[in-house]
Amino acid sequence: RAKAGGKNRYVVFDPTMQASVLERLALETDLRRGLDSNELCLHYQPIFSLAGDQLQVSSFEALARWQHPEHGWISPAKFIPLAEETGLISPLGLFVLQEACDQLRVWQSEFAHNLSLSINVNLSAIQLKQVDLVKQIKTVLKNTNIDPRYLKLEITESCLLQKNGSSVELLHNLKALGIQLCVDDFGVGYSSLSRLHEFPIDTLKIDRSFLRRTEEAKNWETVKLVIALAHSLGMTVVAEGIETEKQLEQLKVLGCEYGQGYLFSPPVDNQATKQFFE
Ligand code: C2E
Ligand code: MG
Ligand code: MG
Ligand code: MG
Repeated sequence: RAKAGGKNRYVVFDPTMQASVLERLALETDLRRGLDSNELCLHYQPIFSLAGDQLQVSSFEALARWQHPEHGWISPAKFIPLAEETGLISPLGLFVLQEACDQLRVWQSEFAHNLSLSINVNLSAIQLKQVDLVKQIKTVLKNTNIDPRYLKLEITESCLLQKNGSSVELLHNLKALGIQLCVDDFGVGYSSLSRLHEFPIDTLKIDRSFLRRTEEAKNWETVKLVIALAHSLGMTVVAEGIETEKQLEQLKVLGCEYGQGYLFSPPVDNQATKQFFE
């Protein structure tokens, strides 16, 4: 039994807790090594324009993947938080940005007919605190020769509401690069509603939890409201997690500009993205 501080307060030593601490430590070491030895790669999920009769790929979202030599594929839900806690998110984030822009360059040169193709890259809240973030993005854009308007950075809603208030300025500095900004997973957790108009946001990505219960007609009302809100602020909308034809049809009726989800495609490796250009 270990004494936990205050008088008569004890915590029972928990062997599973020790195991998970050790497991985490090992995973951190592995992630550090994995970053250096090409174990990380990107998969890409297409985002389609819903306007018009024919669906057209408008962008790809770059999603980090880690193939561990012993444990196989590890979910980003596991290694992204680990990277954030250990500071590894900075080199990882730079890798993702560089790789994603390189890939966009490849698509642009191989499939020149689709010149307005964009790439979406997720930014972690930790990266937004990096003092050299703007400079880093600028350098990658320059080195890859990407027109900034084809780079879309996804930040989560909670990033808008950092306590120190510097997020408005930072986002304006990012916008000044000529890139586009998206709010990812909009509508879950933190509410930025009252301040949303202060930020230079181009696109809201409605979290897929909004579509989950849309078999019930009344649940479409919330989706309708988010789309109307976005449009009134001059923003476009991406619906995340479209899984059924019915959802797609309804979203089109509501004037949602873009869609992403298993109905179209899961995230795929770079070779498999070719199918979307045929
Ligand atoms: P996200 O940015 O919201 O990405 C969308 C997630 O939803 C992806 O999961 C995607 O595979 C999944 N998804 C897409 N369509 C559907 C659908 O129709 N149904 C369902 N059930 N799921 C769908 P993934 O790839 O596992 O990524 C999870 C999260 O990890 C991402 O959520 C993002 O927050 C984070 N993440 C992934 N890559 C990166 C990265 O490079 N940097 C940062 N900072 N975060 C990343
Ligand atoms: Mg995202
Ligand atoms: Mg998302
Ligand atoms: Mg999400």
